[in-house]
Amino acid sequence: MRSITKLNIQYAHRFYNFKGEAQYLHGHTGKFIIEVEDTVNMGVNMVFPCNEIKKTVWNLIQNFDHALILRHDDPILPAILEVYEKQGIRNGAPTNTMKGPAFKTELATAYPECRLVVTKETMTVEGMIKIVYDLLKEKLNIVKITFNSGDNTASQEFKTERSMDRCPMCGIAMGKDGVCPKCGYRKP
Ligand SMILES: [Zn+2]
Ligand SMILES: [Zn+2]
Repeated sequence: MRSITKLNIQYAHRFYNFKGEAQYLHGHTGKFIIEVEDTVNMGVNMVFPCNEIKKTVWNLIQNFDHALILRHDDPILPAILEVYEKQGIRNGAPTNTMKGPAFKTELATAYPECRLVVTKETMTVEGMIKIVYDLLKEKLNIVKITFNSGDNTASQEFKTERSMDRCPMCGIAMGKDGVCPKCGYRKP
């Protein structure tokens, strides 16, 4: 069965060199639907607690929220950084508290201190799904991601064969030592 969780982000981007309006800097509300598949954990009668899926996903995607997402070769990037530098917010600001751990994958690098994500490819809805799946595939049994932004939506299905060992008391993934990291349940 599947547990399905929804999350939103607010972001700005542009399609560098795209022959259309999207080459101008603009913003969106981006809506994720994350589908996780596994057996039903009989102890709690759920696949995975939605608040735990949300926590795991948000930990990484909060770096895209109120962020500027630009392709690595976009000339607007150094210009923006120069302004942030002059303003003294390039390396952080006291009000910039919603920061996830910085990450660097083949597809994207997050700079949470200045709310910037630099991508290898243009940040389309398809591109977002590729990046997010890559960040989360080891942490959750994701079988489908849908991402909507303005009039655009993309979705992709993924295969998973593994089943995660989950706590029968609170539903989260068991630690490698056989102890639940949340409620302390120990396997008999
Ligand atoms: Zn757009
Ligand atoms: Zn537990």
